Amino acid sequence: MNYDLAIVGGGPGGYTAAEKAAKAGLQVVLFEKEDLGGTCLNRGCMPTKALLHSAETYAAIQAAGELGIEVPQVNYDFAAMHRRKDKVVESLRQGVEKLMKSSKVTVVKGTAVLQGEGVLTCNGETYEAKDIILATGSQVSYPPIPGIDGPGVYNSRDLLEGEGKDFSSLVIIGGGVVGIECASIYLSLGCQVTVLEAADHILPFMDKEIAQRLTMVLKKRGAEILPKSQVQRIEGQPGAVTVTYLDKKGQEQTVTAEGVLAAAGRKANLEGLLGEGISLELERGAIVGDEAGRTSLPHVYVIGDAKARNIQLAHVAAAQGENAVAAILGKPLPLDLSVVPSCVYTVPEVASVGCTEGEAKEAGFSVKTGKYLTGANGKCLIEGTESGYVKLVTDGASGRLLGAQLVCPRATDLVGELALAIQKGLTADQVSSVIHPHPTFCEMVYGAAEGLRSE
Ligand code: FAD
Repeated sequence: MNYDLAIVGGGPGGYTAAEKAAKAGLQVVLFEKEDLGGTCLNRGCMPTKALLHSAETYAAIQAAGELGIEVPQVNYDFAAMHRRKDKVVESLRQGVEKLMKSSKVTVVKGTAVLQGEGVLTCNGETYEAKDIILATGSQVSYPPIPGIDGPGVYNSRDLLEGEGKDFSSLVIIGGGVVGIECASIYLSLGCQVTVLEAADHILPFMDKEIAQRLTMVLKKRGAEILPKSQVQRIEGQPGAVTVTYLDKKGQEQTVTAEGVLAAAGRKANLEGLLGEGISLELERGAIVGDEAGRTSLPHVYVIGDAKARNIQLAHVAAAQGENAVAAILGKPLPLDLSVVPSCVYTVPEVASVGCTEGEAKEAGFSVKTGKYLTGANGKCLIEGTESGYVKLVTDGASGRLLGAQLVCPRATDLVGELALAIQKGLTADQVSSVIHPHPTFCEMVYGAAEGLRSE
């Protein structure tokens, strides 16, 4: 069977590339060994946010008394929350299936194996294609801790499967995005959450100021946040699992909970992908590719979580899919991969784009920052939100926006405006020359920019 383009993996990277290539007139075959939509749609972004919405709604109803609403008794049905999450996921999955069908992409269910330049096999059949995109995503990676694969220890996929796992207490190993978002879900449901993080703050890849603010809020919501903690071993059974760790002073401590979530990172998923004798340049187990995704094998591209030195986010995978297809078609790359918004879906939300203040200083800019606090924003007061801020980082000489960090309601939406401003090279003056509607959360963006006005 001959195609113009073969894509391995039907996640956001793979299905976006498939749709763009088919739209451009290429004959496309897409291989997927599990479900279309990949990690993001089936086991990542979407199911976690669906659950988070249920959990946050439960917490909001419990707090309704502050708004003058009397609610006698509130309960949650964990299994029903998971059934709703499954409905959302199913509907999104059907959307991707329809998109592939209407785009005339041939979808083959099975594990594809790269056999050589332009050749793949799947389910005993051989497929030939002029170009190949590898979009096989990532899987959970476990640190070498005795007991990490023992009973009562789960990964994010386990927690999302079926009717989920409800706990009255949970230890989370890893304070990255997955760990912190799960912490937020379980905290909203009244679970006692302990987060053990090896680095000196949670969300280690983000600005320390963000981490400090979020740590404060999570602690206020009842979480134990323990940075600089080195997990030594895990013992016990579901219902009573004990984690032994060295605390920040190097003293051995233990914490026991009903369950443990291992959320200490993910690695590229190349399982079964490379046929005998196929060698691709790898770095730390991920495939090396250039800006357009070109690998060390001619006409073989890599995109998304499977790519070395990549930011493991769904929108990055999708953007790289579009760029790889453009490169295959001999066109300029449509997406600028240097400006990538990162979001954490907690209460309050967190978002970041471009440089932090520290990074901008290190890069030699004479930095000027503008900050607007949630306490000064009418909409935040109306909604009674947690304390937070919108911070803008600019080049003091030109006024150009270099970065933004947000800890506030709807931060994950507000960051879109700032990503646009940074990518287009706008100054704080230009951002504050635009009328922002009132009363809104986005007035905080205006307020932070206005505070930096040159005159
Ligand atoms: P994937 O989505 O992993 O898809 C790869 C696909 O390839 C899979 O379906 C797999 O079955 C298939 N495959 C692998 N090998 C083969 C083979 N040999 N043959 C056939 N098929 C194969 N990102 C965000 O941007 N926002 C979020 O809110 C967010 N939340 C997350 C929450 C969790 C709990 C997790 C785990 C991740 C989250 N992510 C989030 C990250 C996001 O899911 C990934 O960055 C994104 O899915 C990567 O897309 P991809 O196309 O590279 O790979």
